[in-house]
Amino acid sequence: LDATGESFSPEEFDIERALRPLSFDDFAGQDQVLDNLQVFVKAANLRDEALDHTLFHGPPGLGKTTLAHILANELNAGIKVTSGPVLDKPGDLAGLLTNLEERDVLFIDEIHRLSPVIEEYLYSAMEDFKIDIMIESGPNARSVQINLNPFTLVGATTRSGLLTAPMRARFGISSRLQYYTTELLSDILQRSAEILKVPITMEAAIEIAGRSRGTPRIANALLRRVRDFAQIKGNGKIDIEISKYSLKALNVDANGLDEMDNKILSTIIEKFKGGPVGITTLSTAVSESAETIEEVYEPFLIQQGFIVRTPRGREVTEAAYRHLGKTKHHSQGG
Ligand code: ADP
Repeated sequence: LDATGESFSPEEFDIERALRPLSFDDFAGQDQVLDNLQVFVKAANLRDEALDHTLFHGPPGLGKTTLAHILANELNAGIKVTSGPVLDKPGDLAGLLTNLEERDVLFIDEIHRLSPVIEEYLYSAMEDFKIDIMIESGPNARSVQINLNPFTLVGATTRSGLLTAPMRARFGISSRLQYYTTELLSDILQRSAEILKVPITMEAAIEIAGRSRGTPRIANALLRRVRDFAQIKGNGKIDIEISKYSLKALNVDANGLDEMDNKILSTIIEKFKGGPVGITTLSTAVSESAETIEEVYEPFLIQQGFIVRTPRGREVTEAAYRHLGKTKHHSQGG
């Protein structure tokens, strides 16, 4: 289990599906995003039109995929799911697009990783609901235009900065998801526990929530692990004792930082005197890709006030020293 929270077995994948909210009502938090989406969906439903193309951005596990499915449900429409890296042949894209029924949702995860050729095709599909495809080859090759049913492209990205400008401009709706508060996560955990049919105390839910990196996917993943401990080492119920015991066994620290979070902080302190340090240098020092540091780890460390970004690179804050039980003076001495 790491900050991406994505290292699941197939059964766990099914559980994650079962825990996924299906309607606006089940979805906790992101109030402003949700309020707006509800208006846009209602209006689209009223006019019997496709919803405008919608982009969700933000760190992994905050609910982008979930919202795409909710949109399709609330639009009473179907959904087709693909992702930037998978969608690499224009033929595949054409197949997907021509199979969309009116008002369907096409969800493209990691949309910043589309190839330029595919992007080019998408532009006209998004704008005019038309695509030009080449048929036959050699001397008979010619391009034919196909009309598509009006559909909604929902894109998700952890890195909106990597999206090309023309692509970004084609989304009528664009929403950034935020990290969740402990309170919201504990609500989510109680809902999940109910679905998993495991009793959980309020206190335990708050404890687990506070250590979930502000991320529902991590909260749910921790819940499943604590449930195992409760079943094997406890009485099957999730209370504060078994939660603390499990979180300790799982090496989840008090602030919910995981191993890599802590490694990043301690590396900046020990090897770079607290910073500033450039992302590439840091990436080499902690053996993690610069991309992953930027999209997964850094946003949370910044949000929690452990790191600040300066023009010369990343710097840790006093809070980071305190968190790791180090003093600023010492580290600068050696
Ligand atoms: P992303 O696509 O942003 O990586 P997902 O939509 O896959 O994140 O969310 C991961 C899991 O977290 C989902 O399966 C769902 O169970 C849970 N989840 C996410 N957001 C919420 C929410 N607002 N309320 C309840 N559960 C949520």
